[in-house]
Amino acid sequence: MSKTEASSGAAGNKDYQRLVELLAEVTALRQSGGLLFWDQQTYMPRAGARARGNHLATLSKVAHEKFTAPEIGRLLERLRDWEETLPYDSDEASTVRVARREYEKATRLPPDLVVRHSRARTRAHEAWIEARQKNDYKVFRPALGEMVDIMREVADALGYEDHPLDALLDQQEPGMKTADMEKLFGELRQGLVPLVRAIAEKADAVDDSFLHQPFDRETQMEVCREAAGAIGFDLETRGRIDLSVHPFTIGFSRSDVRFTIRIDEGFFNAGFFASLHEAGHGTYMQGLPERFEQSILHEGASSGLHESQSRLWENIVGRSRAFWEFYYPRLQKGFPEQLGKVSREDFYRAVNKVEPSFIRVEADEVTYNLHIMVRFELEKAVFDRELGLDDLPGAWNEKFRNYLGITPPDDLRGCLQDIHWTFGFGGGFAGYTIGNVASVQLYEKALEEHPGLEEEFARGEFSSLLRWMNENVHAHGAKFEPQELLQRVTGRPLDAGPYLAYIKRKFSDIYGL
Ligand code: ZN
Repeated sequence: MSKTEASSGAAGNKDYQRLVELLAEVTALRQSGGLLFWDQQTYMPRAGARARGNHLATLSKVAHEKFTAPEIGRLLERLRDWEETLPYDSDEASTVRVARREYEKATRLPPDLVVRHSRARTRAHEAWIEARQKNDYKVFRPALGEMVDIMREVADALGYEDHPLDALLDQQEPGMKTADMEKLFGELRQGLVPLVRAIAEKADAVDDSFLHQPFDRETQMEVCREAAGAIGFDLETRGRIDLSVHPFTIGFSRSDVRFTIRIDEGFFNAGFFASLHEAGHGTYMQGLPERFEQSILHEGASSGLHESQSRLWENIVGRSRAFWEFYYPRLQKGFPEQLGKVSREDFYRAVNKVEPSFIRVEADEVTYNLHIMVRFELEKAVFDRELGLDDLPGAWNEKFRNYLGITPPDDLRGCLQDIHWTFGFGGGFAGYTIGNVASVQLYEKALEEHPGLEEEFARGEFSSLLRWMNENVHAHGAKFEPQELLQRVTGRPLDAGPYLAYIKRKFSDIYGL
């Protein structure tokens, strides 16, 4: 080794230590902001909202300033040569690579655009609330127009090769392209639309009326805790569950992960499956390696990969026959009046009932991705200037007719239902479908290595599956882009094949197709 190489190695190490130190401060600020957010959503007295908004904005501003500081840029620049001498998947190379990717994104946006975006969000949120109260899209239309213009600017500032949506998609799903999503949705459309039609003709084959009756709040909460604990979410020392209007999961470190649920006293599914869903997100956070705790790698790979873990436990496990073989007797003990006379098989069928509906968050496993597809296609059409915003509600309703066979009676049950377009416009929904598709792809790989998983579920044992996800997915934190991770773990990039086969197999059986 020549003298210069040796000294650049040593310098690299010192620069790396400094980078890690600075990133740890940013991580600590972000995680502290997370705690304020959690409190805001759970226990904060209502009147604390304004001050809390200031606290959150200040923390996020300080974190942004620290992360985009010129010193970080200089360190990343100086570390380039050193990084190239390291294995791609090493902690050091990955930290530098991910920090550089995020740094470039964060510094490409001009500060005045960030400010205008933030103001547009506030206006869009207010307009959206008012539009929902009046059930009138026209009230939201001007603010949405402003948001779309700003998101075009954001896409231009971030930069892209093929399509402006690529830049926006990349913020949620690093490396994922609009063309990838179009191919994916094309395959899903072909497989799912005919299946939804076939099931609609046999709609009466599944009765879920007994899920809609009074279920006592306290007992539901107990059941949710028990089930989340059973699948391996650590509630003893590293996690907790609380109530909030919108369920969410947040972690301030791998050792303090919290999720919230909403209990519906008149409908069993709402609380229970949200609990399994959020517990799935929670296992990802609790499964991150301890040595990443203050690192920029202390995250999931993407929203979609995060969603793959929540969907895995909510649907593939939580809506399986094997799971209910284990859990149904316990549930019946909790709700003897409601479920004492309902057979396990009838219960299994009921929690899997397929019904085209207007509201995404209430959609079943089969129709869910069609809801996402509608949003993705509309966003793309708007970006391509094929669809004007005045025509958005009509286009929304037409797509619902084509894909789901139903027409939303109003905008509240149509294009005004999601909060997402008040944050931005473009790419914000893709993660849900990526998650559904990736969940099956990962599960089948786990099943290949542990063919007895279902027998284990029936006995209430979930540790083999959880350990497999720990070792193959969680252990990498944010090291890899979603496509890289899937390729490494399953030998293929994101692939609709296993997902479609799983859906057809499961629902042909339930509906006797
Ligand atoms: Zn989720």
